[in-house]
Amino acid sequence: MFKCECGHIFETPERSMERLELDSPRYEEFCICPACGSYDYDETAVCALCGTQERSDIMACGLCYPCQVKTIKEFRAVTEDFTWEQRQYLDECFDGGEVFGR
Ligand SMILES: [Zn+2]
Ligand SMILES: [Zn+2]
Repeated sequence: MFKCECGHIFETPERSMERLELDSPRYEEFCICPACGSYDYDETAVCALCGTQERSDIMACGLCYPCQVKTIKEFRAVTEDFTWEQRQYLDECFDGGEVFGR
């Protein structure tokens, strides 16, 4: 399956013949989204957490973007009551600052 920039999900890209130049007899075949004609689409993958079908180029470790955000949020919620020292320690374990978004 594929998904285009506007969110259309389709099984097969549509083939479209387009003239390269106005007066040229040369045509080139393009593949486009059948719903909106966009060239900007990518293969989809299913999110491991919520099952949403998403473009594989914006997924990370099998998670769609909302699930990536949700994972970080949940992680921060768990560590909310940690002391400064505990947070420092975790930041060090996870290689410097990324964990808490500093
Ligand atoms: Zn589309
Ligand atoms: Zn998801």
